[in-house]
Amino acid sequence: MSSKRILVVEDEKPIRDMIAFGLKRAGYEVCEAPDCRSAREQIADARPDLMLVDWMLPDMSGLELIRALKKSKDSEEIPSIMLTARAEESDKVAGLAGGADDYITKPFSPRELLARIQAVLRRAGPGNGEDVVELGGLAIDDVSHRVKAGERAIALGPTEYRLLHFFMTHPERVFSRGQLLDRVWGGNTYVEERTVDVHIRRLRRALTPYALDGLVQTVRGSGYRFSTRDA
Ligand code: CA
Repeated sequence: MSSKRILVVEDEKPIRDMIAFGLKRAGYEVCEAPDCRSAREQIADARPDLMLVDWMLPDMSGLELIRALKKSKDSEEIPSIMLTARAEESDKVAGLAGGADDYITKPFSPRELLARIQAVLRRAGPGNGEDVVELGGLAIDDVSHRVKAGERAIALGPTEYRLLHFFMTHPERVFSRGQLLDRVWGGNTYVEERTVDVHIRRLRRALTPYALDGLVQTVRGSGYRFSTRDA
């Protein structure tokens, strides 16, 4: 695997050093910029695969930098993660609306940062767009087999995982128990249709703490459906 190049735009040197150290150790190539002007020069020199951009920078805000880069053909597709000390939800929305792909609040652990970077790079990678499906407040990642509600990971058994993955890739359609057995369990297993109900119940139970159980809907006389609309 060729190493990915990450540009760290952060004016506080100790934080920049700490991030750069962790990224290099994880095998990334790192370039650093203390302000937006320097960041733009570095991007013109060599396009990074991803940028980490601090919110508060001396010459312009990180958000303004990301917006400006989105306006240029050469830099519009560089994925970015905002770094900020502010935890308010409105900042997150502003960051994402401004074109950042993700957002991480200081202080963060190196492990958390690496996980975010990998997720953003995977989404940005060619042909990998279908690995993560996001719907109704849930995200399912078929590479890592992880399911998340917002930032919180949901633990699922293997059958519940397959069931949820099938539902999320076939939303808003009703499937009979027999169809679900064919598509999720595989056609040649000898499983009673009641088994479907058992796993639907387990799946709903796993989603209940996040108030997302309503996504898995019973359609009377027909079967089940995954829907982001009310039943
Ligand atoms: Ca700063």
